[in-house]
Amino acid sequence: MPAPGDLGLELIGVPQGAELDLQLRMESVSEGVLVSGTVTGPLVGECGRCLRPISDTLDVPIQEFYAYEHSTTDETTDEDEVGRLQGDLIDLEPALRDSVVLSLAANPVCREDCPGLCPDCGVPLDELPEGHNHEQLDPRWAALSQIKTSEE
Ligand SMILES: [Zn+2]
Ligand SMILES: [Zn+2]
Repeated sequence: MPAPGDLGLELIGVPQGAELDLQLRMESVSEGVLVSGTVTGPLVGECGRCLRPISDTLDVPIQEFYAYEHSTTDETTDEDEVGRLQGDLIDLEPALRDSVVLSLAANPVCREDCPGLCPDCGVPLDELPEGHNHEQLDPRWAALSQIKTSEE
């Protein structure tokens, strides 16, 4: 099924319309239907440290109970607590949304040890030479420090 909009968090999620693969099993129980399985699909986002794009694969378990209309569960619970079968149909989207959002990191990173950006020039630190910094000595001071060194 195509992914609904806003499936994810601010920095990472499933692009709207991307193909989601749902492997679901439905089990009839006395009060309704238990749906369980996994959802897989593409994930795109942005590294929370260096802002480079991330692409990843979503693979999350999903489990949700849907009560039959007029069952005891239907009559004793709220619709936001327990899903309802609508005739023969189930609305999977709220359960899907919950599973996906719970599985995502609020601060995704492109890799575990991403060093992030140089705070001064905004270039990713792993693209810069080792020892990169912006503490450039004023040439006059540099000259002075040379004199000092030679005196020692
Ligand atoms: Zn990164
Ligand atoms: Zn820099």
